[in-house]
Amino acid sequence: MQIGPETVVSFHYTLRDESGKELETSREGDPATYLHGANNIIPGLESAMTGRDSGDQFSATVSPEEGYGLRNPDGIQRVPIKHLAFKGKLRAGAVVQLSTSEGMRTVTVAKAGRHTADIDTNHPLAGQTLVFDIEVLETRSASAEELAHGHVHGPGGHQH
Ligand code: ZN
Repeated sequence: MQIGPETVVSFHYTLRDESGKELETSREGDPATYLHGANNIIPGLESAMTGRDSGDQFSATVSPEEGYGLRNPDGIQRVPIKHLAFKGKLRAGAVVQLSTSEGMRTVTVAKAGRHTADIDTNHPLAGQTLVFDIEVLETRSASAEELAHGHVHGPGGHQH
């Protein structure tokens, strides 16, 4: 079925930056699965998926505004290292978990000191134009329960 509202889609993707450097791929593991029209994926990718069907292969270029947003220059904050969860040595560029009042949040270390670290709370892909190579594997109608929850259940989705 063609991808539209209330479609469950599974797909493989390779994500590159504008220079062609590979950032992520699903090819080495399970495909990604999402519920179309429920803000499960970034807006630019979701609109590129609309109207596609299983077996389709295409490439989509997504601007920062339609992707992970622009970088916020005020996103750099100094925090005590004890608020960070990480393994090994803390160094610039490391992606770590910051404990906040709203739970754990993924952040990037900009600079590590002895007791404090400067962390960048921007999404690691904020400010980047993203190029996705997509292969749509399967499409199906969402169940009533999936629509009520706003996400996919079963393989590749929520297991609850
Ligand atoms: Zn659910």
